[in-house]
Amino acid sequence: MENFDIRTLVFILSILNMLGFFAYIFARFSILRMSGMTLWAGGHLALAVCFFCILLDIESPHPSFMLFVVISVMGTHAMWWSASRYFFNRKRLHPLLIILPALIVIVFSVSAKALVALEWIEDGALFLTAYIMLFLTCAFYQFAIAKEFISYRSPRLITSVSVGCGFAVVAVLSIFKVITALSILPPLISSSMTYSIETFITVIFIQVTSMFGLILISAERLQSRLNELAQSDPLTGLLNRRGFKLQSEIAIKSDRYGENICAIMAFDLDRFKLVNDTYGHATGDDVLIAFANCLTENTRSTDIVARFGGEEFIVLCVDIDRTDAKNMAERINEFMSALTLQSNKGEDFCITVSIGLAMIEEEHPELSLYLKAADMALYNAKAMGRNKVVVAECGAQPSLVV
Ligand code: GH3
Ligand code: MG
Ligand code: MG
Repeated sequence: MENFDIRTLVFILSILNMLGFFAYIFARFSILRMSGMTLWAGGHLALAVCFFCILLDIESPHPSFMLFVVISVMGTHAMWWSASRYFFNRKRLHPLLIILPALIVIVFSVSAKALVALEWIEDGALFLTAYIMLFLTCAFYQFAIAKEFISYRSPRLITSVSVGCGFAVVAVLSIFKVITALSILPPLISSSMTYSIETFITVIFIQVTSMFGLILISAERLQSRLNELAQSDPLTGLLNRRGFKLQSEIAIKSDRYGENICAIMAFDLDRFKLVNDTYGHATGDDVLIAFANCLTENTRSTDIVARFGGEEFIVLCVDIDRTDAKNMAERINEFMSALTLQSNKGEDFCITVSIGLAMIEEEHPELSLYLKAADMALYNAKAMGRNKVVVAECGAQPSLVV
């Protein structure tokens, strides 16, 4: 490869890293913000400066200048490893542990330079050792970063896995550099080895993985957070009506729905308006939270629990028979009537709940029909004096029994 091409390449890499730095600084203050972005930006800045200096000194790299390149490359990797732990809110590693591998390479390179300057030892062998140490350490950092991205699971994002795989490929390329260096035994000519085309391919791969990957991860994470917010009720943390619809459709279509028997329970707190009027809205809110907790405690983790609006709640239990469903509803009813609540001013009071239950015993149910059936059963429970469980008759076209 001609020097001219390498020069152009180095120039492009320097500009790309500057753009990477600005992109992350911009993202740091935008809605795409993720913790650790400043460190990630810092890594790009170090690389940008490093490439700019290489550009100034490309014909015959000065040994002290080579040292600066080693420090920048190591600094970038240490910053990125640290940042990748921040991204995923993992426990912080001791800073010394993160910079130790980089420090070893830097100390070795400085000592080697001193030994060569004192003419105690030949340049070639030391250069090869420093070169191998540098790329092995890069591979170590790149595998460590890959592991952070690939092992992230909550939620599992396709972009995180892709960036992780990108870094794993870069790590393999770094090891490949070590193997090829071993086959070209000393004396090595520093400039031709350092600025070889494989090095640049590795670097370009890092650029693409880091610059596009992280922005995509932030966007995907943001989308998943927005989905979560759109489907949940801010007061109780339960699913809202939209969340219930989406989750229940997924549940009904899933393998869990093997036995084809589900139950829908509709809940409405009795005389809740009176609680608001007597003790105030803040106490009313506390009652809604207490009831949401009661539902979470008295249902299975696979059940879909939602606040439908106001003081109305819905639970869909998948794979449950009529007797168990009725027992569950009665348990919740008794739990609430036995619970003593306290107003903001310290007054004790109790509240009851009316429950309508509809069983679903067909293969491809129209959920809205059963929701209506459970709602009608609930209406009957209210008409019968409240604080009751009423079961609607099951079947393809639900009709009511009291
Ligand atoms: P019933 O036994 O017939 O269900 O009577 P109720 O008083 O429970 O029913 P009603 O529909 O008359 O009143 C519901 C009340 O719920 C009225 C509304 O102010 C209150 N409410 C709805 N959402 C919230 C909320 O988020 N917080 C509080 N504190 N109150 C709410
Ligand atoms: Mg109501
Ligand atoms: Mg009510």
